Amino acid sequence: MSERFRATPCFRRIALFLATALVFAQAAVSDAERAMLDRISAQSLEGHLSFIASDLLEGRATPSHGLDIAAEYIAAQFRRAGLEPAGTDGYFQTGMAKNVVGILRGSDPRLRGSCVVLSAHYDHLGHRGADIYNGANDDGSGTVSVIEIASALATVNPHPRRSIVFVTFFGEELGELGSRYFVQHPVCPSTVADLNLEELGRTDSNDGPRVGMAELTGFDYTSITQTMQEAGAATGIRMHDDPKNSDSFFERSDNFPFAEAGIPSTTLAVAFMFPDYHRPGDKWPKIDFANMARVDRAVALGLMLLANGEQPPRWNTANPKTAAYVRASADQAGPAVPAK
Ligand SMILES: [Zn+2]
Repeated sequence: MSERFRATPCFRRIALFLATALVFAQAAVSDAERAMLDRISAQSLEGHLSFIASDLLEGRATPSHGLDIAAEYIAAQFRRAGLEPAGTDGYFQTGMAKNVVGILRGSDPRLRGSCVVLSAHYDHLGHRGADIYNGANDDGSGTVSVIEIASALATVNPHPRRSIVFVTFFGEELGELGSRYFVQHPVCPSTVADLNLEELGRTDSNDGPRVGMAELTGFDYTSITQTMQEAGAATGIRMHDDPKNSDSFFERSDNFPFAEAGIPSTTLAVAFMFPDYHRPGDKWPKIDFANMARVDRAVALGLMLLANGEQPPRWNTANPKTAAYVRASADQAGPAVPAK
């Protein structure tokens, strides 16, 4: 999460309870899908994050040696999962620093030319003197979730119908540099959605405990929200619309360059504001890994629903705040699903 558009950290708790008054259809989860979801484990997430957020990586500033070590680690996990390399140099898409990109090729010949993106940023603030900003929650948590979800989804046979691009970005803390580069250098003929992950690990938000729930930025902007509500209902995670921050945070993470290019996108987080935000205290032992594994199962199922859906996700044109994104989408022209 970047600091530039930092909104007031004032939340209205009452919204927690009002926002979920509606009951949503629950996705039927097949045995194969359940087996896939069960592969996502708190222990595995803790293993990955204890490395990504270790002092050895010196806070993963863009660019830095620590960031490069993280990139190698993420690439190694994508390789282990069996993702196809989708960078210019193996899994690396190199701009000012490296995005790490792998693809799970879709199983439907008609839809596999269109992609759903799961993303997170793996950079953080580096170090100042002896203080290392490990960025365990921001956004080591999203980074290791991309790894864990990719590893689980890659075991599904057949693969989901659309292709799924798994990417971790550099330079988010400097103003979404990696995601801007990625959107300008697409790895897929048609990108239909970006689901971006931020700050999934801390349930001790500034606004009280956040267990069993997740926020989506631009809650009312796209149909991705309904899909995630469906996936959340099937996995025990409540998608929460924070009326104070949902829209203002939409422009503060890596989903935003996708939106500016007309691609439906959102950022999913457990809590935007937590006590160690952009402080040296953002360390991995403070993460709630059991809750994070639950949230990741909701994300994995939602991603699968997005990739299998006959219709690609769409903007909510009834919301005037989406007007610029809808215009950008129209400017892209061409069908959402390329003839192939
Ligand atoms: Zn941040």
